[in-house]
Amino acid sequence: MQIKDLKVLFTEEQLQNKVKELAERINQEYKSEELITICVLKGAVMFAVDLVKNLTMPVKMEFIRLSSYGSGTVSSGKVHAVDISLPDLNDKNVLIIEDIVDTGHTAKFLLDFINNNFKTKSTKFCSLLDKKISRAAEIEPDYYGFEIDDKFVVGYGLDFDGYFRNLKYIAYSDKV
Ligand code: 5GP
Repeated sequence: MQIKDLKVLFTEEQLQNKVKELAERINQEYKSEELITICVLKGAVMFAVDLVKNLTMPVKMEFIRLSSYGSGTVSSGKVHAVDISLPDLNDKNVLIIEDIVDTGHTAKFLLDFINNNFKTKSTKFCSLLDKKISRAAEIEPDYYGFEIDDKFVVGYGLDFDGYFRNLKYIAYSDKV
C-alpha cells in the first residue's frame, strides 16, 4: 500500500466534527460523573486524544494494548493481549475507546474481560468506525462515528504494517 494510491474517505474536518459530536453525546450522558476512558492502543490513540479533549466531566485516561491483526489486512479473529494492566474499575463509569469495530472479536474480548474482572458502574464502548458488514461476534458499540463498508482503511491512528497512523485523514486503497 502506497500513499499515492490512497483515496480519502473522511477528511480532517469531517473527523474533527464527528469527534465533537460524539463528545457532546457523551457529555450529555454522563453529565458531571467521573469517567475512566480506556484507549485501545495503538490504533485508537488519535481518536481518544481528540475525544477526551472535548469531554467536560472529570476524566482519567487508561491505555491497553491488544492485537488481532498481523501485518496483513484480514482479522485473525484471535485477540491477543499485549498489555492489559488496568487500575481498579469497580464502581467506575468505564468507556472503551476503539478505532474500528470489524469482526467485533476485539470489542467482545475487552467487554468480557472488564465485566469478568470488575463490577463497574457502567461499561460502554465507543468506536470511531463501525464495519457492521464484517461482524462475526455479537456486539454493537454504544457510540460510533461512521459506518463504513468492507474496506481496509488507514490514517488517523489506523495503520498498514505500522505506517500511515500519522495521517490527519482516513483513507483506503484499492491496491492492497
Ligand atoms: P475486530 O476484532 O473487530 O475484527 O478488529 C478490530 C481491530 O482490527 C481494530 O482495533 C483495528 O486495529 C483492526 N482493524 C480492523 N479493520 C481495520 C481496517 O480497516 N484498517 C486497519 N488499519 N485496522 C483495522
